[in-house]
Amino acid sequence: MRDMMKHHGKHPGVGHPGMGKRDFDQAPFLVIWETTQACDLACKHCRAEAQPDRHPGELSTEEARVMLRDVRRFGPVIFVFSGGDALKRPDIVELVAYGHELGLRMAITPATTPLATREKLQQLKDAGLARLAISLDGSHPGIHDEFRQVSGSFEHGLRILKTSQEIGLSTQVNTVVARHNLDDFENLCQLMTEVGIVFWEVFFLIPMGRAKPEDVASADAFETVFHRLYDLSATAPFDIKATAAPQYSRVVLQRKVAERRSGARTESSDVLTDGAAISMSDGIGRARNVNDGDGFMFVSHTGEIFPSGFLPVSAGNVRSDDLVDVYRNSDLFRTLRDRSLLKGKCAVCEYLKVCGGSRARAFAITGDYLESEPFCAHVPQKYTRMLERGDAVPAAGRGPVSLPVFARPPA
Ligand code: SF4
Repeated sequence: MRDMMKHHGKHPGVGHPGMGKRDFDQAPFLVIWETTQACDLACKHCRAEAQPDRHPGELSTEEARVMLRDVRRFGPVIFVFSGGDALKRPDIVELVAYGHELGLRMAITPATTPLATREKLQQLKDAGLARLAISLDGSHPGIHDEFRQVSGSFEHGLRILKTSQEIGLSTQVNTVVARHNLDDFENLCQLMTEVGIVFWEVFFLIPMGRAKPEDVASADAFETVFHRLYDLSATAPFDIKATAAPQYSRVVLQRKVAERRSGARTESSDVLTDGAAISMSDGIGRARNVNDGDGFMFVSHTGEIFPSGFLPVSAGNVRSDDLVDVYRNSDLFRTLRDRSLLKGKCAVCEYLKVCGGSRARAFAITGDYLESEPFCAHVPQKYTRMLERGDAVPAAGRGPVSLPVFARPPA
């Protein structure tokens, strides 16, 4: 797992990169910590391959405090307590309070179980939590609970949202788009408008952990969902972000250019950041153009430092390496931030700067995190010409399913 420990630089910084103009070479927008693998749910696509009990090698309370201090050296970045189920850690309120004291802006993603009591939510709020996110993967218990493998999980999700809002926490829903819920997506859009959230984060499945390549929707299905999200973003009372799908930025750009050409849009604005006003109410908002290792960092339950939770290549461990130095200077993180190194159609794409494709999905499918995004429907003109001339060949896949660069996975 750990394959890139060499560092280019010698001076791990202690500075504050400034949160106005973000420089992702210096600091991530977001750091996620997988507090524990322990969880009472058994979700079919679980990235963390969660299990009921805590791992003996988890970071201790003191190690977590050291990590939080190190993260604060990036500046007042956003810090997410993820899992497993973060509520399985008895020190979670204490750690939220400590992060708040340090000046981090914190969110938590508890599992939708009875552990998230009103009392616990109130304690988290009092400790300084800024936002709470829960997962909903279907518009009704039939889809959600089947996926989570525990009946009652859907109702707990709605209860946690309602209770959090009653005590003054801002709330977010996370949804994983995969084959199993595509037909329910329109109903999910409707449900989101009814549950009082400030933010809907829509994840596009990466086939890792318990998820298989055949669970991922097709590139065409991704495209349909992107357009639906764009339409919804015009009227929704919450902000929307597509995660593990930077190609949504390409669709946003295409739609806004088309609107300008047709005269439907006249104002000049930053197409990737406008519309992020609602979720700024709790100081978190959303990032622009974040990708694995590029504005993003993930620390596992045992302290391994990954470019994201979906790209399981370690660049170090917080127990032995300087987290700030790893982000800024490790070969892995620097390589991921250098889009001139990308391969295949992403390398010649006119949307390279705003997109770059999911590095995690490229890795999961091809074994090379610099390869083309395997689930993008866009074919750059330059790439078409290269294929015609015989200057390019679709990338070979790996694992149980082999996916050409822009083909659909098998039905
Ligand atoms: S080809 Fe690659 S860079 Fe271009 S839009 Fe698709 S995923 Fe993004």
